[in-house]
Amino acid sequence: MKIICIGRNYAEHAKEMKADLPTEPVFFMKPDTALLKENDFYHPDFTKDLHHEIELVLKICKAGKHIEEEFAGKYYDEIGLGIDFTARDVQAKCKEKGLPWEKAKAFDSSAPIGKFVKKDTLQLNNIKFELKVNGESRQLGNSSDLIFSFDKVISYVSKFVSLKVGDLIYTGTPEGVGQVKIGDKLEGFLEGESFLKLNVK
Ligand code: MG
Repeated sequence: MKIICIGRNYAEHAKEMKADLPTEPVFFMKPDTALLKENDFYHPDFTKDLHHEIELVLKICKAGKHIEEEFAGKYYDEIGLGIDFTARDVQAKCKEKGLPWEKAKAFDSSAPIGKFVKKDTLQLNNIKFELKVNGESRQLGNSSDLIFSFDKVISYVSKFVSLKVGDLIYTGTPEGVGQVKIGDKLEGFLEGESFLKLNVK
């Protein structure tokens, strides 16, 4: 399986990153070794500025490429919560030099994933989600604020990269990204329900 991540998909997050609003989806990938299903996350030693990015995640249930937007809904059946961990200091250096982001984004365990629900149980254009750090709310998002919808993202990505069953799409983070430290306890909520718990060690 592969992990596809959408960048700058919420206007307020693009603003806090001082990035322009994209005119088409921005995506990058993480390898399967980035996926973390356990509750313990070990802070990597190559960064002094590890950031949390809470994101709604689509689970692909049908293989496809060149998927038309109007049929994209058939290609994912579940939605969950994940974190796109980012070594912000490393990423800043990559950006400065015009280099790829993998060192900052694709490292081992950089994609914690929580539980999923069937997408039919949700109102797709109005999904509330939240990240709390040590019990304090840090990121509050709603899929209504997506620049590019789930269907648009699937259609766009599949023009370049074939999707396979089990692939995950991290759909972008809302504003409020911030630093994570050893000892922090992260908890992600979808429609008020706890979906993801992480202890930073
Ligand atoms: Mg992200």
